[in-house]
Amino acid sequence: MRYSNLSNFIDGKSSNPGVPRMERYSPVDGELLSSLPLSDAKELDKAVQAAKKAFADWSQWTIKERTGVFYKYYELLSKRLPEIADIQYHEMGKIPAEALQEVGKSLELTEVACSMPQMATGDFEEVSRGVECHDVRVPLGVVASITPFNFPHMVPHWTLPNALVLGNTMILKPSREAPYTVLKIGEMMKEAGLPDGVLNIVCGGREVVNAIVEHPNIQGITFVGSTKVAQMVYAKGCANFKRVLALGSANNHLILLPDAHPANSAANIAASYLGCAGQRCMSACVLVAVGDVDPIIAKLVEESKKFVPGVNMSAIVNTEAKANIIGYIDRAEKDGANILLDGRGAKPPAGKEKGQYLGPTIIEAKAGSEIAMEENFGPILTIVRARTLDEALDIANSSPYGNGGSIFTQSGRAAEIFCKKIQAGMVAVNVGVPVPREPFSFGGWKNSIVGGGDITGKSSFGFWTKLKKISVKWNPDKPVNWMA
Ligand code: NAD
Repeated sequence: MRYSNLSNFIDGKSSNPGVPRMERYSPVDGELLSSLPLSDAKELDKAVQAAKKAFADWSQWTIKERTGVFYKYYELLSKRLPEIADIQYHEMGKIPAEALQEVGKSLELTEVACSMPQMATGDFEEVSRGVECHDVRVPLGVVASITPFNFPHMVPHWTLPNALVLGNTMILKPSREAPYTVLKIGEMMKEAGLPDGVLNIVCGGREVVNAIVEHPNIQGITFVGSTKVAQMVYAKGCANFKRVLALGSANNHLILLPDAHPANSAANIAASYLGCAGQRCMSACVLVAVGDVDPIIAKLVEESKKFVPGVNMSAIVNTEAKANIIGYIDRAEKDGANILLDGRGAKPPAGKEKGQYLGPTIIEAKAGSEIAMEENFGPILTIVRARTLDEALDIANSSPYGNGGSIFTQSGRAAEIFCKKIQAGMVAVNVGVPVPREPFSFGGWKNSIVGGGDITGKSSFGFWTKLKKISVKWNPDKPVNWMA
């Protein structure tokens, strides 16, 4: 076993509940990595009680004192990027270069939290003669963050630094596919001086999630994962009167116009649908090809062939996910779709025969077909044809999801029309992965999100706090006239 049997991280210590355990095998080469506890409601309650106790003190620290811990954490993390990236590589199969980029994003998100004393200040005004109003951000209390497998280190950093700097204490529930990557965050936060109980990490599956949405002492929940679970977490969390923000699945559309720069477009689109082997909620999924773009598509096919599974392309997270992706390709083929590039027979490199790999796949299909409408979360680009930009926008906007969208063109007018009309939360021009960089916030539209606001950036400050509005009058000589 590469790593030892894993424990939860509660109240600054390891916790080993007497619950069943799950073994975790690496998608890189099938190696047994670790086992993790499938925690239950009792273990979750233990974590909540620790977080509740810690809140009494942590919430009284000044914001600058709390930020001080994150400056130290930033320093520690920046020295240990390769170690974290290596764990992530083994746990969920993301090639080291991509894993390093991801941990780099965690650093950038920590920077935002460190700037909170400057960015999260409140308002002040003399609202009437001698009467002043100001507002104060008050933390919610114990909050929870439930995270997916595909960005196991970055997604916790969407929530954890901001929520904690703003004075909350947290239960973090990682994906079962990458628990050690997340437990390392707890270890390093403790080393950075985070008091015990402020961050608690509880491993497991749906039992923990169900316990989170029902626990009376949890005030706020964020979720990132598939739409089906996002909607369940939102519905149950709200029914229990919690504040909830839940991010879900995606099926991002890219529009390719004939005037696009051929080499840049081909390289960007290939990197977008093949990065992390397509296991990104901002990956290119559907390419809407407008008019005669066949020379660019031919380049895209050639560009895609440069991605070799297990060499410069990540693994698929597990056997079930791989079978699910293959199922989509098989059904599209049966449905009469034209497979331009088929990754089903990809051979793993020597020494990685037991790994989970799929090669780049490009499928030309009908708009509205299953492969064009559903998220498959694999290294597949589905091409559908359109005659005009308007028709392409209609196709893109018929998706039930609205996470991201991009256009490839050299026409400013076409780009302007696209940005105005595309129904997605994060859009881009000539950029394959339309994720905004910090401090701009992250959040999709339509079925890619449930709840108000984005998960990062300024709108997250509002999510993690409640405002207290204070009115003060100290001048007895001035008559009270609220409307003066
Ligand atoms: P998932 O929904 O299977 O799991 C997410 C979390 O929910 C995990 O912690 C998991 O343990 C838990 N969970 C899973 N099934 C559950 C159930 N039935 N009841 C209660 N809890 C459950 O998602 P995943 O496979 O880890 O991640 C891939 C999905 O996440 C894709 O759909 C992808 O688009 C989406 N995603 C979205 C974003 C975004 O920002 N919108 C970001 C990353 C991933």
